[in-house]
Amino acid sequence: MTQATYEYSLQDATGATCTANAWAKVMPTPSADQRTRLKARAKELLKQHDAVLVAHYYVDGDLQDLALETGGCVADSLEMARFGRDAPQKTLVVAGVRFMGETSKILSPAKRVLMPDLDATCSLDLGCPADDFATFCDAHPDRTVVVYANTSAAVKARADWMVTSSCALAVVNHLKSQGKKILWAPDRHLGRYIQEETGADMLLWNGACIVHDEFKGLELELLKEQHPKAMILVHPESPKSVVQMADVVGSTSQMLNAVIHGDAAEYIVATDNGILHRMRQLAPGKTLIEAPTAGNSATCKSCAHCPWMAMNSLQGLVDCLESGSGAIEVPEPTRAEALGCIERMLDFVAANPAAIAKPAKNNTAPGLVPGIGAA
Ligand code: SF4
Repeated sequence: MTQATYEYSLQDATGATCTANAWAKVMPTPSADQRTRLKARAKELLKQHDAVLVAHYYVDGDLQDLALETGGCVADSLEMARFGRDAPQKTLVVAGVRFMGETSKILSPAKRVLMPDLDATCSLDLGCPADDFATFCDAHPDRTVVVYANTSAAVKARADWMVTSSCALAVVNHLKSQGKKILWAPDRHLGRYIQEETGADMLLWNGACIVHDEFKGLELELLKEQHPKAMILVHPESPKSVVQMADVVGSTSQMLNAVIHGDAAEYIVATDNGILHRMRQLAPGKTLIEAPTAGNSATCKSCAHCPWMAMNSLQGLVDCLESGSGAIEVPEPTRAEALGCIERMLDFVAANPAAIAKPAKNNTAPGLVPGIGAA
């Protein structure tokens, strides 16, 4: 098997990714009265502006509920983009992080795409600057460039393929069968996992998600001893020690389906804890336990919740609809160039539905539905 090697010269002190200058706002928590008022106002504004709310599983539960109550969707990043593309409304309000707004705009250039806070970003996106990435690609012209959805439009414009966490294995297996060598960016854990599963020749960018990177394998073992019958669900952006303990490795949509359809009564969930809101709604009889980020080897940033997803607020939603602020633009020719790698993936998935019908690893959960989820 070809060993995965990592390349990226601008790592931070931990050697993980270049987020030294990253920051996030902590949003005020509205009172119960304010929440009621803001939700009512948001509903009015969505109608008034012919807009639909498209929310990620990791954002605040109020926003998820509002999306569903108003005919929008709560989904992973790719489903968000596809829903937005197919929605009849002229304005899409994307509650998520910036690359999700960009992907929506790339697929729906004629629509207005707004976000509650344009500063909501992602450590994977931040850790893969387009210029550095272009230099990396230039140094390896013999490799097919495959990037994860969690990248900027400019990085996607340089890629041959975009993938999500549940179709990545199928796409890489397909490329390997064609004798292709792969340049992968930006998530090192997901890249390493795919490389080990497929045996493909992969050169990896050294990025990481600051949320999933914090899950602790050692602590997970101790938790499993306390809950021996619990099914462990892990997002593949997590470290190897955590993925190795998983019963199901999959995207957010696949993890959700595992809880809905699984036979177990208890589930240990290793992904952003924002997803628990939807899991509780769709599987009310199941016990959900957050995978540990604290304990041995933990750091003070371990809270299992993305600081940028948390920047999406009811107030931000109302503000962007009232003022038209937070509009996403992706200039040409970047948009057209980025569209190519997204459409290649969509065509592949449409032609190979069986290849992505199940999570990457599924030891026990039966009957999962096809999906092409992302982070
Ligand atoms: S949870 Fe991780 S991968 Fe998802 S947006 Fe936040 S930093 Fe990015």
